[in-house]
Amino acid sequence: MGTVYAIANQKGGVGKTTTAVNVAACVADAGYATLLVDLDPQCNATVGLQVAKDQEPNVYDVLSGDVPLTEAAVETLVPGLSLVPSSPDLAGANVELPRMPGSETRLRDALGDVRDRYLFTILDCPPSLGPLTVNALVAADRVIVPVQTEYFALEGLAGLLDTLSLIQRELNPRLTVAGMVLTMHDGRTRLAQDVEREVREHFPDLVFDSVIPRNVRVGEAPSYGVPVIRHDPRCSGSVAYLKLAKEVAARG
Ligand code: ADP
Ligand code: MG
Repeated sequence: MGTVYAIANQKGGVGKTTTAVNVAACVADAGYATLLVDLDPQCNATVGLQVAKDQEPNVYDVLSGDVPLTEAAVETLVPGLSLVPSSPDLAGANVELPRMPGSETRLRDALGDVRDRYLFTILDCPPSLGPLTVNALVAADRVIVPVQTEYFALEGLAGLLDTLSLIQRELNPRLTVAGMVLTMHDGRTRLAQDVEREVREHFPDLVFDSVIPRNVRVGEAPSYGVPVIRHDPRCSGSVAYLKLAKEVAARG
């Protein structure tokens, strides 16, 4: 039985896509059949894996009910990692979805039995708590929350956790938080150390041990269209994402 993970945080630029792509690549590389679903109209996960953002069919067609999810899934350069690409058209789904019947469960319904073909299904969410993220949270078993190690890190996290509880109560009782992962951590700065301590104190048991360092290789890998473990397997970012992927798998 596969597990579905949503990578969510309503803040932009905190490392959601980077975490989604790299954790997906690490677990696929370890031999687990993995599916990555790009739910962001910005298509960063799609383009970061060398798939065109005008690829048809895509996740928009799946959510519209026009195409089964299996038909939209494409293979990527990482063996064992399939991708349901996004499209800029998906921006329209934020307006259209609420008007469709059963709008919150579109992705869950589309995943159906497909979730059992993959040990890991990873949903890369857009930077909002709108209909697309709600679809991801209704389809997911677990949420991973990337938290950028910067001054306003804690801001918004309480609100996000409230939203998760609401969805759990109203729409998806299975949903649990797998954990928060500190991203873009610059260990040389006092600020990063303080923020890390603060987040761990605030959310004991919820923060993954693995911390993702700020690392040039991680940032440049998407411009080569590869996950960081392909771009530079030995850099600190690759080591950190491999460790995080193991921790995610171990938490089940
Ligand atoms: P989100 O999906 O939350 O908007 P991204 O994953 O796209 O955030 O990350 C925002 C930017 O920061 C991107 O340009 C990405 O390449 C860069 N980035 C993410 N994580 C790291 C890291 N650990 N080190 C360096 N750059 C990073
Ligand atoms: Mg993103």
